Amino acid sequence: MADVTPLEIQQAIRNVPDFPQPGIQFKDITPLLGDARLFAGSIDLLTEGFTPGQVDTVVGIDARGFIFAAAAAYRLRAGFVPVRKKGKLPYLTHEQTYQLEYGTNTIAIHVDAIRPGARVLLMDDLLATGGTAAAAAELVRKLGGQILQIAFLIELSHLQGRARLAGYPIRSIVVY
Ligand code: AMP
Repeated sequence: MADVTPLEIQQAIRNVPDFPQPGIQFKDITPLLGDARLFAGSIDLLTEGFTPGQVDTVVGIDARGFIFAAAAAYRLRAGFVPVRKKGKLPYLTHEQTYQLEYGTNTIAIHVDAIRPGARVLLMDDLLATGGTAAAAAELVRKLGGQILQIAFLIELSHLQGRARLAGYPIRSIVVY
């Protein structure tokens, strides 16, 4: 059980206006990560309801998703798999392109990263429009992985990312 509350986690997230560009309020999680109790508690909350043996693979999304997914994989004694920005993975990949506000983005996964039928948790730091997570979920699905849950530390609910992830169980710890 987690010994921290979502409110404590929220209080450790710093809002940085106009980063990386004007009009964006960046959710800076580095104060949270630097606090031993809050970081451990955030992993407990993200993995709540799952015990070792129930999950085969935790998939983390480039780049801040890696931090949470790797720690969650350790806690659940599961494997860790990175979904990375195109061009970063060294071996054969599947790619998925999705729409951004201006332009597109492409993410990739190694073709042999997930065993067909594997029980997968997908994780990222933040759910905004849901485009990134939907594309990552599609990559997992392509490899035959079975997504048990998609978990985020932070959800920006006004952007309605959940609608893009319909059909998947979603967990978010701090909702704005
Ligand atoms: P989206 O695909 O729109 O759901 O965007 C989610 C991805 O963009 C995540 O990997 C986040 O790390 C990043 N992101 C989007 N908006 C923010 C924000 N306001 N603060 C920090 N990261 C963000």
